[in-house]
Amino acid sequence: MQLKFKGLVAISIFTLIALIGIQGYLIYNTYELKQKTYTFDARTAIGKVYNTKEMDSLMWLYRTDFLANLEVDGETPEGQTQLMEALEKKTAEINPAFLKMYNEGLAQQEQKFNVRFKKIVTSVELTNKLTGNTEKIYPKNNQDTIMLLGENFSTKDGLLINNSTWTDNSGSYDLVFKASIYMNIDGWDSVMLKELSGLLIISSLLFLFVVGLLYYSIQNLMKQKRVAEIKTDFINNITHELKTPLSTLSLATKTLTSQHALGNKEIADGAVEIIDRQNTRLQKLIDQVLQSSLGYQEIQLSKETFNGSIFINELLDDYLLSIPSPEIKLNRNIDSTGIAMEADKFYLSTAVINLLNNAIKYGGTELTVEYGIDKIDSTHYINIQDNGIGISPKYQRFIFEKFYRVSEKDTHNYKGLGLGLYYTKQIIKAHGGRISVESEANKGSVFTIKIPI
Ligand code: ADP
Repeated sequence: MQLKFKGLVAISIFTLIALIGIQGYLIYNTYELKQKTYTFDARTAIGKVYNTKEMDSLMWLYRTDFLANLEVDGETPEGQTQLMEALEKKTAEINPAFLKMYNEGLAQQEQKFNVRFKKIVTSVELTNKLTGNTEKIYPKNNQDTIMLLGENFSTKDGLLINNSTWTDNSGSYDLVFKASIYMNIDGWDSVMLKELSGLLIISSLLFLFVVGLLYYSIQNLMKQKRVAEIKTDFINNITHELKTPLSTLSLATKTLTSQHALGNKEIADGAVEIIDRQNTRLQKLIDQVLQSSLGYQEIQLSKETFNGSIFINELLDDYLLSIPSPEIKLNRNIDSTGIAMEADKFYLSTAVINLLNNAIKYGGTELTVEYGIDKIDSTHYINIQDNGIGISPKYQRFIFEKFYRVSEKDTHNYKGLGLGLYYTKQIIKAHGGRISVESEANKGSVFTIKIPI
C-alpha cells in the first residue's frame, strides 16, 4: 500500500514535470516562430524603404566624394587614413537626411515596433592599376568601425540582414568596398513579452491549476489512507476489548452448566457474578462507542450556573476516591474566581474525567489541575497537566479526531478506542469553548479547556 502510494505520487510528479517540459518547449517554439515572422516583416519593411531611387542617390553623394578623394589620397598610408576619415565625415553629413527619409518610409509601413537600421563599412581593398599591388586599407585593426548610415547601436544587439559589395574601376584603382547592414528592433524583449503575455499567463494559470489539483489529490489520498488505517486500528482495538469479556463469559457459562456447579451453590453464584460483571463491562463498552460517537450538535446540554472553583474541587475529591493506584499525586491550583460558570455539570465532568483518566493511563504519576479566569479572552480555563509519556508534536493535531490513536508501533501499547479526546472536544465545542494541548514526547502533556464566561 505504502509502496503503491509512493509510486503513484512519483508518477504524478514525473508526469507534471514532463508536461511542464513540453509546455516550455512549445512556448519556446512559438517565441522562435514569432521572432522569425517579425524579423522577416522588419526586413521586408527595410527593403522597401532602402531600395528606392531617393536612397540610391543619397548613397552616391558619399560614393562620388570617396572616389574623388581616392585619386588624391590612395597612395600613402597617411593619405588612406585621411581618405577614410573624410568618408566618415561625409556620411555623418548625409546621415540626418537619410534618417529622415528612412523614418518617414518606415512610418508608412505601419510597423508594430521601431526597427533601427545601420550600415557599416566592413572592408575596403584597393588594387593599383599601374603596379598591380593589392592593399587592404580598411580595417587596419579589429576596433575599426566606420558608420555609414543609420543609428549607432551595438553590432552584437543587431541582426545582420545584408552584405553589400561596391566595386569601381573608373579611376587609377580597382576598388572593392564592402559594407554590412544590421537591423535592431527597439525593446525587442518587451515586444516579445507583450506578444507572448497571453500565452504565458494562460500557461501559468493552467500550470498552477494542475499543481493545485495534484496537491489536492495527494492530500485526499493521504487523508483516505489515514482514515483506512484508523478504521483498521479501531476494528483491531474493539476486537481486542471484546475478546476478554467474551472469553470470560464463555468460561463462566461452562462452569455454571458443569456438573460441578449443579450441586454447589457457591460455585454457581460465583459464575453468575462473573457473568453479571462481564455483561456490565460489555454494556459499558458499547455505550462508550455509541455515546462517544456523538457530534457536538447532537449533545443536548442542560446548563446551570454554578461556582467553578467549588465544582472543580468537588469533582477532584470524588475522582481521588476512584483512582486505582494510591501512588498517584494530584496537585490543585484552583482560583476562587468568584465568577459564575454556566455549563452542563454532567458533561463537563465527563470531559475533565476523560482528561484525568488519559493523564494516568499515559504514564502520569503527578497530575496538576489548575482552574482560573483568562481575562484576555474572557474564559474559564481548566488545565490538566501530567508527567506521562507526552505526545510528539507531529501527532498533536490528530489526537482530537474520531478513532485516532497515536500508532502503537510508534510509541506505546495502551488500550483504548481513540474516542475519548474526540468526545471531550465535542463536549467542549457544545459549550462554545476550545480544547488544546501542549506536549513534548517523554516530558508530559498539558490539556487546556476553555469555556466562555
Ligand atoms: P484512547 O486513549 O482511547 O487511545 P483518546 O482519544 O483518549 O483515545 O486519545 C487519543 C490519543 O492521544 C491516544 O491514543 C494517546 O496516544 C494520546 N493521548 C491522549 N492523552 C494523552 C496523555 N495525557 N498523554 C499522552 N498521550 C495522550
